[in-house]
Amino acid sequence: MSADPAAGLADPAAGLVALAARVEACRACPRLVAWREAVAAAPRAAYAGQTYWGRPVAGFGDPAARVVVVGLAPAAHGGNRTGRIFTGDRSGDWLYRALWRNGYANQAESSSRADGLRLVGAFVTAVVRCAPPENKPTNAERDACVPYLAEELDLLRGVRVVVALGGFAFQAVARLAGARPRPAFAHGAEVALGPDARLAPGATLLGSYHPSQRNTFTGTLTEAAFDAIFARARELAAQAPVGRAGAGSPG
Ligand code: SF4
Repeated sequence: MSADPAAGLADPAAGLVALAARVEACRACPRLVAWREAVAAAPRAAYAGQTYWGRPVAGFGDPAARVVVVGLAPAAHGGNRTGRIFTGDRSGDWLYRALWRNGYANQAESSSRADGLRLVGAFVTAVVRCAPPENKPTNAERDACVPYLAEELDLLRGVRVVVALGGFAFQAVARLAGARPRPAFAHGAEVALGPDARLAPGATLLGSYHPSQRNTFTGTLTEAAFDAIFARARELAAQAPVGRAGAGSPG
């Protein structure tokens, strides 16, 4: 997973494109490679005739993002089908609708890589880039994949807020940033990463319930509660940076 940090510093957009190419070619986890490809070879009836992506899914969004949204992994018939994170499944419908309502997206719909969706000030990614069986990656798979998230957070130089969707993403980001003591996940939990954090220094880690159907169908996560997360993210992102020198610009 070698990178060219100098290229990323000079041009975050180019660094992210180069990273995406490496992510999409990755075959490091045999179980997940087999699963993503098996799912792609047997589309759901609703998607019969579609060609699934069937590969790892890179992060998506604005290279100048101040807000980064981190999920668990692509869904088998969502990102693993469409090739874009949180795209083509119910969780993604919720997420991009919320981003649109809160001024981070040019449209509410997210259906394919060619749907015209653009994010402004936000970047969406995940801890694990291959769809895992039952949405449960092993610890070894998480550890194999998380360096890609670390690289993204390093390339996105102006990050002020990391919104973690669910406890898995929350703990993965806290660990990456070196947050001590280990914070407890809750909807709305905030952890100041401090100027000395290993990644996203000076940013705030903000926990949110994941917009999974289990949470949205049961009312554990409502649209109002999800909106409150992004309203808070915008508030935090507008605050003066306390992170590394040169991180982002005001406005
Ligand atoms: S989960 Fe990550 S590390 Fe594992 S094969 Fe997919 S992209 Fe590679």
